[in-house]
Amino acid sequence: MVTVGVLSLQGGFSEHLSSLRKAADSSAADVHFDFTEVRTPAQLAVCDALVIPGGESTTLSLVAAQSGLIEPLREFVKISRKPTWGTCAGLIFLSEQASATKRGGQELIGGLNVKVHRNHFGRQMESFVTDLDLPFLSQSSSQAAPFPAVFIRAPVVDEMLTDNVKSIGERLEGSIAGSQKPPATAAKVEVLAILPGRHASNRKAAVGDALPVSPGGAGDIVALRQGNVFGTSFHPELTDDTRIHAWWLAQVAAAYR
Ligand code: GLN
Repeated sequence: MVTVGVLSLQGGFSEHLSSLRKAADSSAADVHFDFTEVRTPAQLAVCDALVIPGGESTTLSLVAAQSGLIEPLREFVKISRKPTWGTCAGLIFLSEQASATKRGGQELIGGLNVKVHRNHFGRQMESFVTDLDLPFLSQSSSQAAPFPAVFIRAPVVDEMLTDNVKSIGERLEGSIAGSQKPPATAAKVEVLAILPGRHASNRKAAVGDALPVSPGGAGDIVALRQGNVFGTSFHPELTDDTRIHAWWLAQVAAAYR
């Protein structure tokens, strides 16, 4: 059995739990998953994989600190290298750096060797849903239908903090193999999805221009993976579409097979 925790301090944890359960029920995987809420270091200790939901990353960070979870989370992600997926605020929390708030920095767990720009698209009012191409969901023979991606005060990847980057055009290899445990810093940052530039109107230049994305793929990086750590800027748990949850669970299963 593989135990998948959802950090349940704040934000969309119950939505993630129900999407995960739905995805697991409809999957043909031979692995049995147990899903559980995580609020304490003891609850984290029994998990094989973890989802960090969206919400508000400064609050998430404060509550995690008050709960004594910052160091256990760092150990989970960076030393044990267990599969971990962050959505929106969760992605911010899993980045090595984030654009500063008015009050200064915030404590991050890290794991993704990138800098994210918080609230990239503006305020809550500027939230949107858009059809997003997710090449990683495609089977070799057919392209996956676009994903209804929900962006709510979402971050994007602003800067790579490593040269070890795989652009979206390159074929995905392997899984988030927690069991193989390559040194975290040695794993490539894989760009998994780009939101075309039209949404990046409040930036001087499309972020993708300065980053090694595929030709014609200029835009904002909104999904990425580095070794055991996966991040999405948007909220798959707020839709009925469980393909990303199913994809991630398959990666988790592969890491423990
Ligand atoms: N803007 C939020 C933050 O910076 C994230 C928003 C979200 O998770 N939907 O933490």
